[in-house]
Amino acid sequence: DAAIDQFDGTIRRRRTRSVCVGDVTIGGGNPVVVQSMINEDTLDIDGSVAAIRRLHEIGCEIVRVTVPSLAHAKALAAIREKLIATYSPVPLVADVHHNGMKIALEVAKHVDKVRINPGLYLFEKPKSGREEYTSAEFEDIGAQIRSTLEPLIVALRDRGKAMRIGVNHGSLAERMLFTYGDTPEGMVESALEFIRICESLDYHNLVISLKASRVPVMLAAYRLMVKRMDELGMDYPLHLGVTEAGDGEYGRIKSTAGIATLLAEGIGDTLRVSLTEAPEKEIPVCYGILQALGLRKTMVEYVACPSCGRTLFNLEEVLHQVRSATQHLTGLDIAVMGCIVNGPGEMADADYGYVGKQPGYISLYRGKEEILKVPEAQGVEALIELIKSDGRWHDPE
Ligand code: SF4
Repeated sequence: DAAIDQFDGTIRRRRTRSVCVGDVTIGGGNPVVVQSMINEDTLDIDGSVAAIRRLHEIGCEIVRVTVPSLAHAKALAAIREKLIATYSPVPLVADVHHNGMKIALEVAKHVDKVRINPGLYLFEKPKSGREEYTSAEFEDIGAQIRSTLEPLIVALRDRGKAMRIGVNHGSLAERMLFTYGDTPEGMVESALEFIRICESLDYHNLVISLKASRVPVMLAAYRLMVKRMDELGMDYPLHLGVTEAGDGEYGRIKSTAGIATLLAEGIGDTLRVSLTEAPEKEIPVCYGILQALGLRKTMVEYVACPSCGRTLFNLEEVLHQVRSATQHLTGLDIAVMGCIVNGPGEMADADYGYVGKQPGYISLYRGKEEILKVPEAQGVEALIELIKSDGRWHDPE
């Protein structure tokens, strides 16, 4: 109730520590960071540099690359050098899988953040049958993980670099599966085990993710992680994502269902929308989610009614014309309404309104104030003139 009473139209975000990844900061009240991942082979230096640059130029703030071998890790040195020489030091994250100690140590020299998957970090020989792990066995494996992980933690700590502890529902470690089952609890315990090792070595530049391809599982895992971190006094930022979301409209809906639900609860400091499409396609979805939630404003916000029997002009066509003319004007809210039956309040406090007035005529509004009535054919041009006269127009680049 208190939250409703004090609601100021913005989402109150969970407080976290700041984690620096190159010149980008995750958490600490900073804007939610957009990430994606190239799908080039990292051994292809020129191809990878071009792909990283393409993504960065359209708003991907941290770019991930995969590093399946030591040769790939070494190639990253050349990629980084070339990026700095020809473009900019884009913040890079390396994904290290299966028993990747040597790879991770090499890659830590060339990137700003290393992502490891606790489930794949140490090969655990599967137990026969469904035999329980004894607590001694559990701890013994924990000690092996610690000694394997320690050099990487020390290297990242001493270089001021970050680590993502990236748990995946589909690849939990054997003993986590036996002990907790294939559950959000198992995911959270996997992350906590790695966090505790990092903390024991005074390393705190951590970002945590708990991805799953099923939205309810992913939601439960992140919520439980926040609860456990609150209980334990931990304040690590969270990286959100729904894995294997697929493609097209449903891939976007599924990703949004998971990511936006958590962001709306104040949870999440960076995100990746994983689509089975070119990585460039992921970036507008990320920014769309953030804009819809009022977390970042990177484009014009259009408010438009769905149209109905009262609509006084071709709403779909006019919205398209208004968008084509104004979409380069970041920071504005523009409403396009078929009629004014329910009053200017329906325009959700837009900066400008284009509203059906009577057949053949539209009215232009500045905020809630009606400014002028013009024939429909002159509507878009008159809107542009109004924005210009207010000094809020600039030509597209
Ligand atoms: Fe219909 Fe007017 Fe509402 Fe648009 S604003 S949906 S035209 S009543």
